[in-house]
Amino acid sequence: MDSHSNSKTPVTLLGLGDMGTALARTWLAAGHPLTVWNRTPRRAEPLVREGARPAATPAEAVASATGPVVLCLLDDASVGETLSGTELNGKDVVNLTTNTPAQAQQRARWAEDRGARFLDGGIMAVPPMIGRPETGGYVFYSGDQQLFERHREVLEVPAGVKFVGEDPGHAALHDVALLSAMTGMFAGITHAFALVDTEKDVDRARFATLLAQWLGAMAGAAQGMAAQLDSGDFTEGVASNLAMMAAANDTLLATAQGQSVDPRLLTPYMRLMSDRVAEGHGDEGLAGTVGLLASA
Ligand code: NDP
Repeated sequence: MDSHSNSKTPVTLLGLGDMGTALARTWLAAGHPLTVWNRTPRRAEPLVREGARPAATPAEAVASATGPVVLCLLDDASVGETLSGTELNGKDVVNLTTNTPAQAQQRARWAEDRGARFLDGGIMAVPPMIGRPETGGYVFYSGDQQLFERHREVLEVPAGVKFVGEDPGHAALHDVALLSAMTGMFAGITHAFALVDTEKDVDRARFATLLAQWLGAMAGAAQGMAAQLDSGDFTEGVASNLAMMAAANDTLLATAQGQSVDPRLLTPYMRLMSDRVAEGHGDEGLAGTVGLLASA
C-alpha cells in the first residue's frame, strides 16, 4: 500500500494483543494506512509484513499521527503508562481499552488537559467477530461527539458503532451493564444445568435448545421494566406479580434441595424479591427491586 496516494484516514494503533491485532487487520484490509506499536515488538511483525508501519515507541507513533490514535491495551493503568511521555496536544485519542466509567472520565480529563480530543469505547465483541458485521459485534462510544462523527467511517471498519453520550463514562457504563446482565444469565444457566444433570436421562443438547429459547422469550421483560421505571408505576402491565414469583421461589429452592444442588447462585436475587414483598409491594413486577440495589 502506498500511503502517499491513499485518501483513506490514517490510523495509529497502540496495543496488538488479540483484540488489537484483529482491529489492525480490518483497517489494513480496508486500505487505511496503519501505524502500530506494541510493548512487545515481536507481536507487530506479522502486521508489518501485511503493510503496517511500525513505530519504535508510543511517542513516535503519536507524534506521527494525523488521524485517530486508537488504544487497545490491557487496562487503564497500561494506557497511562503507554501515553506518559507522548505529546498529545492536538491529537484525537480513541481509547478502546476496557475500563470503569470513573476511569474513562478521569482519562478523558487527563487527555483533554494535555490538549487532546477524547473518545472512550467499550467493545461488545470477541476478536473473531471483528471485521465480520454479520456476527452483530459493535462498540459503544462516548465522549467528544464531534470527534466520533469525524472518525465514524474509520471506527465503523472493525465493528458496528453505537454512540451513547457525551459523558465519557457512558460507553464503559453500557458495556459493564450488559456484561453484568450476562453474568446473571450465566449464573442461571449454570444452575439449570446443575439441576438437569442430577438425572441421567436428560438430553443436554435438547435441554440447551429449550433453555436458549426460554431465556430469549424472557429477555423481553427488560422493556417492561424500562417502561415501569420511566413511569414510576411498578404495577403497570404486570403479568406475573412479585408475591406470586416470591412464592414460586420456594418451589425452586425445594427442587434444588431435593436434587442436592447448591442454590447459592439464586438466593441473592430471591432475597431481593422477598424484601420488596415484605415492604408491601407484592402487586408489583420486578422493577421495584432495582431501587433496592441502587440505594445499597
Ligand atoms: P491481550 O491480553 O491479548 O493484550 C493485551 C495488550 O495490552 C497487549 O498488547 C499487551 O502488550 C498490552 N499491555 C499490557 N500491559 C501493558 C503495559 N503495562 N504497557 C503497555 N502495554 C501493555 O488482550 P486483548 O487484546 O484481548 O484485549 C485488549 C483490550 O480489549 C482489553 O481492555 C480487553 O478488555 C478488551 N476487550 C477484549 C475482548 C476479547 O475478547 N479479547 C473483548 C472485548 C474487549 P504485550 O504484547 O507487550 O504484552
